[in-house]
Amino acid sequence: MEFELKDHQKLIRETVRAFMEAEVRPKVKEWERTEHFPAEAIAKLAEMGCCGMLMPEEWGGPGLDTISYVLMLEEVARVHTAISTALGVTNSAVQIPVLKYGNEEQKRKYLRRLAEGKILGAFCLTEPAAGSDAAGIQTTAVREGDSYRINGTKTWVTNGSVAGIYIVFAKTDPAAGGKGISAFLVEPGTPGFKVGRHEDKMGQRSSPSVELLFHDCRVAASARVGEEGQGLKIALSALDGGRIGIAAQAVGLAQGALEESVKYAKARKAFGKAIGEFQAIQWMLADMQTEIEAARGLLYQAAYLKDSGGKMGAAASKAKLYASEMANRVAAKAVQIHGSQGYSRESEVERMYRDARVITIYEGTSEVQRMIIARELLGK
Ligand SMILES: Cc1cc2nc3c(=O)[nH]c(=O)nc-3n(C[C@H](O)[C@H](O)[C@H](O)COP(=O)(O)OP(=O)(O)OC[C@H]3O[C@@H](n4cnc5c(N)ncnc54)[C@H](O)[C@@H]3O)c2cc1C
Repeated sequence: MEFELKDHQKLIRETVRAFMEAEVRPKVKEWERTEHFPAEAIAKLAEMGCCGMLMPEEWGGPGLDTISYVLMLEEVARVHTAISTALGVTNSAVQIPVLKYGNEEQKRKYLRRLAEGKILGAFCLTEPAAGSDAAGIQTTAVREGDSYRINGTKTWVTNGSVAGIYIVFAKTDPAAGGKGISAFLVEPGTPGFKVGRHEDKMGQRSSPSVELLFHDCRVAASARVGEEGQGLKIALSALDGGRIGIAAQAVGLAQGALEESVKYAKARKAFGKAIGEFQAIQWMLADMQTEIEAARGLLYQAAYLKDSGGKMGAAASKAKLYASEMANRVAAKAVQIHGSQGYSRESEVERMYRDARVITIYEGTSEVQRMIIARELLGK
């Protein structure tokens, strides 16, 4: 078993870190305050291959391994969680289903542009009345000759107001429940499709989460991804891989919070000493680092299993569950170490604490991850 990163993986980590430090860190506070979507920074990350890291060269990507992808997301999230969310969705939740289940025409039309970051993708599954229970979605797609008519509402769609292509899940056979869901590629500007309200969120305010409205939205039958009834399978397989990305985001955010805390523990004085000299602070820092490294171990193991083609099983769920809950514990300790400064909008850790909160919720809540892990344990 190897614990050493390969040269190209180290290079990705260093290049992305240097970019995030130089060009993103100075602007994060302002972008988050004004809910500015950092398209300019994402365009530069795209030039480094970060928008389509897992795409083969044939489709415009660098065709890299999952460990490289995870390292990139960690470095992005270490500085700005919201950008890592945008990248995770377009890389994994949108491109992978098109690559795996799309036809040649769909791949030609969208994959290269997605991989090169010319457009971003959005993944549209959640609805007002169906989140964890994805089979309960109510959006319908009714076949009419060589087209489908889509009606329904999607909520909480990341990249929803800025995407160039949307993968939309809708019921083609409502009576068949989860087996009656199909996936469609919908372009912005399609008549009957519009962006609704923006969510006013606790954190990750630079990452737009929006409602999407479909009212008699007609798409060609050739816009369907895969077969009729394959939609839930497509969505769940995208989420399996996506969970590795979310775990990477959690580890990156926690690493950022730890580094801020170490800096503060050395600089802040109380009772005539740096607070880092108090055992209470040292123990918090030690626990934070230990938990981050444990999460990183689960994360790299899941990424390794994915790349080696072996059965990934519940490994991605374990990484996502532990890393997301760990990031919340670490961010809370980071705020504690910063004292009143940690409660100020001026500090990085205040934002990290808010950004971390959603990581146990999206791409499958902690409860859903535990269901997946237990199902495998019990052989169900
Ligand atoms: C910032 C943000 C971005 C998002 N981006 C996207 C996106 O791009 N695309 C998209 O489609 N969705 C997106 N989502 C939606 C997200 O995936 C859902 O919020 C998530 O799946 C949970 O669904 P829900 O919010 O409806 O909660 P619910 O499913 O209503 O769950 C409520 C609570 O009940 C628990 N629960 C539900 N079922 C069970 C059960 N069987 N056993 C035990 N507990 C259970 C849950 O764990 C949770 O604690 C995003 C959400 C957020 C907050």
